[in-house]
Amino acid sequence: MSEIDRCKRCGRDLLGGAAAIVVNEGTAHFSGVETCGRLWLCPVCAAKIRARRGDEIAEAVGRHMSNGGGAYFATATLSHDQGDALTASLDVLTKSWRALASGRAYKDEQERFGVLGNIRATEITHGRHGWHPHIHAVILTAAEVDVLNLCDWFGRLDARWSRALVRYGWTPGLLGRRFTLYPVTRSPGGLAAYVTKVQESGLGNEIARSDMKGTRRKTSRTPLQILADFGTDGLAADLDLWHEYERATAGKSALRWSRGLRALLLPDVDEQTDEEIAAEEVGGDTVAYLLPHTWYRLADIPGAQSAVLDAVESDGWEGLIRVLVGYRVGVDGLLAPDEWANQEHV
Ligand SMILES: [Zn+2]
Repeated sequence: MSEIDRCKRCGRDLLGGAAAIVVNEGTAHFSGVETCGRLWLCPVCAAKIRARRGDEIAEAVGRHMSNGGGAYFATATLSHDQGDALTASLDVLTKSWRALASGRAYKDEQERFGVLGNIRATEITHGRHGWHPHIHAVILTAAEVDVLNLCDWFGRLDARWSRALVRYGWTPGLLGRRFTLYPVTRSPGGLAAYVTKVQESGLGNEIARSDMKGTRRKTSRTPLQILADFGTDGLAADLDLWHEYERATAGKSALRWSRGLRALLLPDVDEQTDEEIAAEEVGGDTVAYLLPHTWYRLADIPGAQSAVLDAVESDGWEGLIRVLVGYRVGVDGLLAPDEWANQEHV
């Protein structure tokens, strides 16, 4: 049976008298509900875990760069077609990345360009051409790589990426599309400003959270959007896609630091498990409270919770009302923070 059913308690059972919607640095999450900690599959937990992981990445990369280190954005993709099974393409993507970051050629690049390791996020979208798994990574170097060496390095990475794809039975893809490498740029305001900018604009969020945001265009959807669409439209094809995604991602990590890198960059920051992060109350500004009857109606619509969080992030209270009305959940059990506080005193 589907993970949808296994997730019945998570993000559903209330721990107290209401569920709160809390916004922390632009990211919305639910508070006061049970959690499961599954990053790939649970809209409720994924929002919290990705936000935290994103902050960690921003912190690590910011510190590294302010200490004179280099940071480079890499995107690795494979060409895809409507007929490709996600299990197959995701497998090739993962194996090819492993090949890119190991072996003699990698060791040579480590010495030549000062490569320390990478943080990678595996992302999956679905569009007109079928499943599109891809990797966004930050590759860290001991010092900045100068322009000539950067071209050399890119050439090597691109060629090795292409060869790895072929080795695992895929087509080599197109130069310029299959692999990209860009320096993480510093603002003119200097290093301190850069670090602040990373926190604000969300460098970490960029790689940790892009599959949550996705685009609103129906031509390309994230799996959580597919789940949300199934909740509203009930199309069997969407449910099939979701099940395929569940199977393909089982046991795979969505976000991974290469060995030793986290200890090197964040030696003073304890590493928490996804489950611990999901269960933690992170605080922030409470936007609204949902009373049990409204909360449970919302929680029973697949994908509706994720739609609520997206709407709150972009339009706040008004976005929240729009989504609740759109799902026909109604707003009678919706309380603003001051209304909730008054009610508690009655
Ligand atoms: Zn969960």
